[in-house]
Amino acid sequence: MSQLLLKPELVIGGEHRMSSDGSTFEVRNPATKELLANVPKGTSDDVKAAIDFAQSVYSNWSETPAPQRAEILYRVGEIIRKEQNELAEILTLEEGKAFPEALAEIVEGYDTVMYIAADGRRMWSYVSPSEQKDKACMVIRRPLGIVGVITPWNFPFSIPLWKIPPALIAGNTVVFKPASNTPLIAMKIVEIFERAGLPKGVLNFVTGPGSQVGEAMLNDKRLKMISFTGESITGHKIAEANAIFLRKQILELGGKNPIIVANDADLDVAVPAILYASYSNCGQKCTAGSRIIVEEKIHDKFVERFVKGADALAVGNGMNPGVQIGPLITEEARAKIEKYVDIGKKEGAKMLCGGSRYDDNERSKGHFFKPTVFVDAANDMRISQDEIFGPVACVIKARNVDEAIEIANDTRYGLSSAIYTRDLKNAFKSLSKIESGIGYVNQGTTGAEVHLPFGGVKDSGFGREAGEIAIENYTEKKAVFIDYSYERRPWYFGESG
Ligand code: NDP
Repeated sequence: MSQLLLKPELVIGGEHRMSSDGSTFEVRNPATKELLANVPKGTSDDVKAAIDFAQSVYSNWSETPAPQRAEILYRVGEIIRKEQNELAEILTLEEGKAFPEALAEIVEGYDTVMYIAADGRRMWSYVSPSEQKDKACMVIRRPLGIVGVITPWNFPFSIPLWKIPPALIAGNTVVFKPASNTPLIAMKIVEIFERAGLPKGVLNFVTGPGSQVGEAMLNDKRLKMISFTGESITGHKIAEANAIFLRKQILELGGKNPIIVANDADLDVAVPAILYASYSNCGQKCTAGSRIIVEEKIHDKFVERFVKGADALAVGNGMNPGVQIGPLITEEARAKIEKYVDIGKKEGAKMLCGGSRYDDNERSKGHFFKPTVFVDAANDMRISQDEIFGPVACVIKARNVDEAIEIANDTRYGLSSAIYTRDLKNAFKSLSKIESGIGYVNQGTTGAEVHLPFGGVKDSGFGREAGEIAIENYTEKKAVFIDYSYERRPWYFGESG
């Protein structure tokens, strides 16, 4: 295990320190429940100090030419690439996902940093014609000020890197609060920025509970934006707090993502892809394919193959070679999944596999849970509507693709969606009719690429991250009018009335 795992600290104004009252909380490996570290439990005083520093260095940082800011990001990218295996190991130990998936997340972080670094020379705006002669019109970009970044535990490396690099390249300073389940990989992010030469105080790091550290951030009006990813319920609370200050925000929230399997789908391709979309990261993905809506004619064949596949998935400690799926993040998360298994049974859905813990020696040490499939699920059941956030998929039967699209839309969420079909008409119909921020054809609901915008509609939040919109999020546009006629315009008031 990396030595750095043992030194989690707050980073405020470049100083590494414990929380102001000395309190800590534990972080444990979800596969073994072993203690990984005691982490400082930040206080509202720590948040205030972090914001004070972010404010004190803001004018220097925002006046640093963007190509120079980009040099730091390029160095961040190089360090990530060089140390990707060590970073992936920390991610697996702390979050539980299988090592190959952890490595893919680290590489996604690298891709984002390098993509955004190029904006240091590309933060374009535009010049436009004027209604008047000898007058120039243009739009310039200005940073927002101090940005608050609050992130979840399920992608604890890539999600902060969707937010921090574009905020910094645009000239903002940042206060970063990671999820309390995964502060160690977050600490590594901050250390990498320091090693890459980021000036002290530009990126500040405060670990600790959302109810304490997160709320202290929300209550400080000096933060000009909150960039948040997490549950829809938390997102609503954050939106309410932001409304008080009319503060800018991005909210990337939960999902209950539909995958339609049409009669003409190629099951050799669809079944493995949907197994991945539903169960990778133990189903703990905002984009997990948790509602599989299958056309009648192909339904039974699909179910037979899907259940067999789910049953055969290799579940275990993510550090072991060959393991595909790791544990759930916490004991509470596992208890929540068990509650939903009971609810599903009571609602009358048929459980064809999974539904319980493992009782072998190794897996009973961690929060493991068997991949679970419910069939004969109706779309109004809670198991079809609530974000379970675990290895539980519901299969819902539909008469045809039109009905499948209606079912797909019958949810409070709208993050990702997919269809398996060889019929272009059905593919385009589902892309245009399904209310979601992301749409796939012949791919599961996961696997976004960093140069395209990512985000959802309805209760999945609003705003988009990554892609060309990233810079848009972290800058204000200022319309600029320059009159170089040096003349008195005919409509100006005269000085003597
Ligand atoms: P939570 O909403 O519980 O937590 C997210 C972050 O918010 C954590 O850092 C948490 O701190 C903090 N927080 C909690 N309460 C408050 C509060 N009152 N004020 C300020 N901050 C607070 O989400 P999870 O971490 O459990 O993440 C899983 C959720 O994230 C799922 O719903 C998933 O769908 C969603 N998600 C959405 C994505 C998207 O892009 N749409 C991508 C990935 C995940 P603490 O950890 O200390 O509680």
